[in-house]
Amino acid sequence: PPDPAVEALQHADVAALLPRPVAESDKYRRGVVGIVAGSSRYPGAAVLAVSGALRGGAGAVRYVGPAADAVIARHPETLVSAGRPSKAGRVQAWAVGSGLGDDKDRLRDVLAADVPLLIDADGLRLADEAALRARTSPTVLTPHAGEAAALLGWEREDVEARRLTAARELAGRTGATVLLKGSTTVVADGGGSGGGSAEAAPVRINPTGTGWLATAGTGDVLAGLVGALLAAGLDGRDAASVGAYVHGMAGRFAPRPAGASDVAEALSTAWRDLLAG
Ligand code: AMP
Ligand code: MG
Repeated sequence: PPDPAVEALQHADVAALLPRPVAESDKYRRGVVGIVAGSSRYPGAAVLAVSGALRGGAGAVRYVGPAADAVIARHPETLVSAGRPSKAGRVQAWAVGSGLGDDKDRLRDVLAADVPLLIDADGLRLADEAALRARTSPTVLTPHAGEAAALLGWEREDVEARRLTAARELAGRTGATVLLKGSTTVVADGGGSGGGSAEAAPVRINPTGTGWLATAGTGDVLAGLVGALLAAGLDGRDAASVGAYVHGMAGRFAPRPAGASDVAEALSTAWRDLLAG
């Protein structure tokens, strides 16, 4: 019999959740997403996260960090600044961490902001469990197996062997939604901000992934995409689920082999396919 604690994401459900503009839409209603990513060492991570956010349907993307020149060169529609996120203008959700290096100050700002937050990569290393549990707005974590192992204090092989358990355990500890990336991406919910029961909702399994996504930078694209979905108003569990599903579809629509930039571009094709029903 099917396990009631696990469900596969369905195409029609994802299509129904996909934000779409209405006649009265303006950029604020579609959602302003803030990206805190990239460093002098990894400027490309900033560009890729912004690409994911723009192709995730954001009304506007704000970038805060040291890679503003690279971001503007590729995406002139981005609003950029180099200071602290707390001083940036209106932002409805933050995506932080991809290629961030050791920028603890900017991470602290977005952890303290009372808006939805996605944390990826270096951000996962820098954020402590107590700060995550103290948050009152939706929080999504996007570790791959190695990052999840470091957070849990497990061996990487144990995360790979017990992906559902690992995601549930991390969600329970942090209260966040956990999107555990890899050959099978799973989404576990921590029962809301501040921690809670990990049994609250079934773990969702994404069926759209492909090994062609296993290339540098695709995780940064996913971070921006899920950030945009949070800014559009989806809750943590739905934003993570829809993001994983659409990102997997983009991996299938992209040229083969594809780089992460190609995957970001293919997000539009994936949306078009879903919107067409
Ligand atoms: P990252 O580990 O941050 O570079 O992100 C890699 C992205 O590619 C994530 O969205 C993974 O889920 C995806 N990915 C990596 N390997 C595979 C695989 N073997 N099958 C499907 N998706 C994968
Ligand atoms: Mg990554």
